[in-house]
Amino acid sequence: MRFDVLTLFPEMFSGYLTQSLLKLAIERSIVSVDLHNIRDWAQDKHHSVDDRPYGGGPGMVIMPGPAVEAVEAVQKLDVTPGRVVMLTPQGRPLNQRLVEELATHPRLLLMCGRYEGFDQRVIDILEPEEVSIGDFIINGGEVAAMVVIDSVIRLVPGVLGDEDSGRYDSFSTGNRLLEFAQYTRPREYRGLQVPEVLLAGDHQKIAKWREESSLQRTRKQRPDLLNE
Ligand code: SAM
Repeated sequence: MRFDVLTLFPEMFSGYLTQSLLKLAIERSIVSVDLHNIRDWAQDKHHSVDDRPYGGGPGMVIMPGPAVEAVEAVQKLDVTPGRVVMLTPQGRPLNQRLVEELATHPRLLLMCGRYEGFDQRVIDILEPEEVSIGDFIINGGEVAAMVVIDSVIRLVPGVLGDEDSGRYDSFSTGNRLLEFAQYTRPREYRGLQVPEVLLAGDHQKIAKWREESSLQRTRKQRPDLLNE
């Protein structure tokens, strides 16, 4: 799976790309993440990428030229056309179903906004999938792009050590509800015991207990999921 990230702050990804599951996936060539600085497609001698909004108001807007031309040039770097995804609060809210859809594409181009976002003509021309990570505002699309990469790579075969560990995650295909309660050693902590059924090794009973635990948690913490 190939990700191309278009950003004005590529340095923000340096720590992220060199840690944990993503680092291993990159080392094993299961995933690649290429960073592209939108400023490289600036069209004047000052390398400007943003300007004041027409109509007035605070902040700056990313100009259409550098953004559109960056995407067009990056598309040409691989024979597989990438699905263009723009991180924006106006987008479709990210949930596990959307993550599953995104993971069906072998290549994603992630466009990270800054300031007041992209000029509307970038959206009109590129027709990206607009994706929001929630009803709140963060400073730039980079953290949102990392959320997309982090959630999508979990579904790429070979990334998780045990494929089943993703299948039973909350919201996932094997379990559209919340995941069941988990326990590890010690058996007793501050007077709280691990449920006996998890210690006895009867897999049918364990599966039934987990199903019930998942339902109970969902009823209590996310009853909205039961109606989906
Ligand atoms: N003025 C814009 C608005 O009200 O929609 C917010 C711009 S925000 C400060 C700058 C950039 O951060 C956006 O262009 C987008 O790329 C990113 N961003 C902010 N919140 C986001 C969210 N909830 N989901 C995805 N991206 C977000």
